[in-house]
Amino acid sequence: MSKSKELYSIAKQYMPGGVNSPVRAFRSVNSEPLFIKRACGSHMWDVDDKEYIDYVGSWGPMILGHSHPEVVEIIKKIISNGTSFGAPNEHEIELAKLVCEMVPSVQMVRFVNSGSEAVMGALRLARAFTGRNKIIKFSGCYHGALDPLLVQAGSGVATLGLPDSPGVPQEVTKDTIIIDFNDFSSLKEAFKIYRDELAAVIIEPVIGNSGCILPKDGFLELVRELCSINGSLLIFDEVMTGFRLSSGGAQQLYNIMPDLTTMGKIIGGGLPVGAYGGKKEVMEMVAPSGPVYQAGTLSGNPLAMTAGIVTLNLLKNNPPYDQLENKTRVLCNSFKDISIAMNIPITINNIGSMFSIFFTNKEVIDYNTAKNSDIKLFAKYFINMLDNGIYMPPSQFEACFMSAAHTDQDIEKTCIAFEKSLKLFQLSKT
Ligand code: PLP
Repeated sequence: MSKSKELYSIAKQYMPGGVNSPVRAFRSVNSEPLFIKRACGSHMWDVDDKEYIDYVGSWGPMILGHSHPEVVEIIKKIISNGTSFGAPNEHEIELAKLVCEMVPSVQMVRFVNSGSEAVMGALRLARAFTGRNKIIKFSGCYHGALDPLLVQAGSGVATLGLPDSPGVPQEVTKDTIIIDFNDFSSLKEAFKIYRDELAAVIIEPVIGNSGCILPKDGFLELVRELCSINGSLLIFDEVMTGFRLSSGGAQQLYNIMPDLTTMGKIIGGGLPVGAYGGKKEVMEMVAPSGPVYQAGTLSGNPLAMTAGIVTLNLLKNNPPYDQLENKTRVLCNSFKDISIAMNIPITINNIGSMFSIFFTNKEVIDYNTAKNSDIKLFAKYFINMLDNGIYMPPSQFEACFMSAAHTDQDIEKTCIAFEKSLKLFQLSKT
């Protein structure tokens, strides 16, 4: 028995499903998780000493690759001064300044410990600022495991086939209005119906949580326009896209300014950090400068702040974005060529360093069309890739991430593994 299998059987006795976040359990690919003992650059090693090229990147934070030497060095240096003081420290100011410099719409920021916490704070703030309750969210967008938004929430929820989570009272989601992503007319209709009840629209500007799905031309512009006319706040959930699609996130790439932005993942350089920020007039409503309460024992701790500072400075001073995009394009184009040569239909969505492979020949523009993908084939592909040393996200409804540490050789190996993987499909068909 492999060591991973052994550990998993013990883990299941003490933690629900043996994991601390559901998608990690590999259930949607009918498999069992690997236990990882080490990661460096674009590679990870499991407890059985098998090596993998990693396209999960801890679900997004590792844009520079695992254990980046400068990030590791600062953590080692800072940790000896104490890990958390529960009092202000200078590093918070430095990271806040960097975020305000890099993210175009952010003038003020509040740090928290996760993306979910950031979204929770931003929602409360939007409701308090507008004095309204209703929120529009898009099906297939995931905004963290918080009650009001755990409706048609993509990824983990979709993967497990749960319509909504039990334990979320209906009263809590009654003010959440669900619209399909890229559906211009339903969005306009919702604004007509709910008008001055609408506090905010929350959106992943590029979806990562139903696989990678891009906004159609003009869609984000329409969301912005409708919010402005209606006096509703536009919240860009950039937990995944922030500092990934450009140094200023999706808002910089698409040149659309939200009123509030939620951030996470990369902002903590691999340590637990989330943040929400936006215009001063809105952010000053947050306690203690305003009445909207939000707090956190470990928020702004020096360890997480400095890992974030080093990471953002590296991204700002030596932007890897063109290279990331090129590497991703090369990989996706090779995958397309291989699938055409083998007559196995796939659709690939990619932007910057995010990409997803769907086993369908139909365009994927929202959660419904993502569901056209042949999930059984995806599961086989995933296992074949893993057997060939490529660690892809264990769910059709997750995006893959390229990091600055991936080499041309990694990409070549990944393409060879992809070809082998598709060959196995062909063999199993004959
Ligand atoms: N928002 C988006 C867009 C996400 O992708 C995620 C997590 O994947 C979250 C929010 C929640 O972040 P966290 O898992 O740090 O709570």
